[in-house]
Amino acid sequence: MPRRAQKSPFHGNSQPATGSSRVSRSPLTAGIIFALGVLFAIPPASASDSFEPHWRHLKSTLSNQDLYRLIWALPKGGDLHNHHEYSIPMSFWLEGAARHGYLTRTKLSSCGESEAFQWLTLRPDSVKKLSACAQRDFTPVSALTEPQRKAWLAALTLDPTESRDEFFDRLVRRLGDLERDPKLMGDALVIAQTQLQSENALYLETQLDPREFHGLTEDQGAAAIRSRLARQDSLATRIPVRMQVSALRFLPGAENDLRDGFAFVQRNRDLWVGVNLVGREDNPDGRPARFATALRQLRQNYPSVHLSLHAGESSQADSHVLDTLHLGAERIGHGTNAYLDPEAMKILREGRRLVEVSLTSNLALGYVSDLRRHPFPTYLRQGIPVCLNTDDRGVMDSNLTDEYFAAISLFDLSWDEVVQIGRWSLEFSFAEAPLKKELLTRYAANVAEFERAFSAADWRQTLSRIRPQPSGTTPRLLHLRQPGQSQPDATRKSRPNL
Ligand SMILES: [Zn+2]
Repeated sequence: MPRRAQKSPFHGNSQPATGSSRVSRSPLTAGIIFALGVLFAIPPASASDSFEPHWRHLKSTLSNQDLYRLIWALPKGGDLHNHHEYSIPMSFWLEGAARHGYLTRTKLSSCGESEAFQWLTLRPDSVKKLSACAQRDFTPVSALTEPQRKAWLAALTLDPTESRDEFFDRLVRRLGDLERDPKLMGDALVIAQTQLQSENALYLETQLDPREFHGLTEDQGAAAIRSRLARQDSLATRIPVRMQVSALRFLPGAENDLRDGFAFVQRNRDLWVGVNLVGREDNPDGRPARFATALRQLRQNYPSVHLSLHAGESSQADSHVLDTLHLGAERIGHGTNAYLDPEAMKILREGRRLVEVSLTSNLALGYVSDLRRHPFPTYLRQGIPVCLNTDDRGVMDSNLTDEYFAAISLFDLSWDEVVQIGRWSLEFSFAEAPLKKELLTRYAANVAEFERAFSAADWRQTLSRIRPQPSGTTPRLLHLRQPGQSQPDATRKSRPNL
């Protein structure tokens, strides 16, 4: 069974936003600030200066476990970069496959195939299309023994010893036909919403492509997801969902896929907001410049379809981030090597594009060898908008709190920085303007409530009531921090060199 996320003590308790995070000001002061806010358009969620000393105290005195507890309840904005099917506990897919009659490859006989791997999970009609030899290797998922179920789950979860070759070439392909199952993909969305709700986040933007759902046309696939999100259990999470479709960048027909993706988003603009390019960047067939002509035409025809593109998911210098900015991407997925390109940094420092950072994913796939050397603080402290994202939390066995815990404890984020990161995640989301406004208002209220709760005399009782759900990655992250560790302010304020 999937881990059921519990409600954070903070979720759903927020009062309507006041427009500011300060809670103890006089009505007169509030009136002046309101007037100034109207005049100068002060953003709705601003960190309270008076909370910074409390925040510093909490960071420097709490044990690792208690800091994790605190960060579990921390107000978070949106998770903007994640791949839907890989964001759900793999146990959900195992149970779903068993319930819905799927088969999985338990053996790997020599059947003369050019490419084959164990634990590929398919519908019965897909298995029937394979050679008789290969068909014999498949077993109904419902008939798996307990050791086989464990092996299936292990094969779908990235072990710290496994490489990105295992991840890209086999692991993410093992879900097979499950990714095309409209019922399971829809139910998985509600789990994704519940996960974020429990971590006090507000918004999910996920890469979910229904264009190849089994037995449905593209728009019927969209309708299936739309009706699932209209059901009560989904609405009750109060986590609005918007989605992107994606094209696999190195395939021969990627340009056509991109064209079809733009048209699909245009037709389903209520829920689908943008298009992404996915797949390994070290494959030369997927380089960003390849898509310059296609994207120039598409953006002329579809002005309201947004563009967030994976780029710079690499430890080596290249021109991918710069080329992707030239393609018109509003957001860069990962951007791990952008700091090595002065031209790309110059554009990013203008502050109009956001870098979607995924710390634990970059570490797990070997794009950084040590999280302490991740360029995230370089971007943040040079004024480049950044947010924290989970990427593939189901496969990596991680969560959004892990990302925040790593960032806060390794880079000693100030309260202002923490609040800014969450705010950026909403401001740079592709949500339509009224929804974005509502989310920013809710975020301001959550920030104000958090500041009030953790500057009150009984904050220890509040902390003790938080029930985090650590992931498999959490213990490794806790090890990275010495209890009570906090960098001196001087370190934080110095700008890292390029
Ligand atoms: Zn990604």
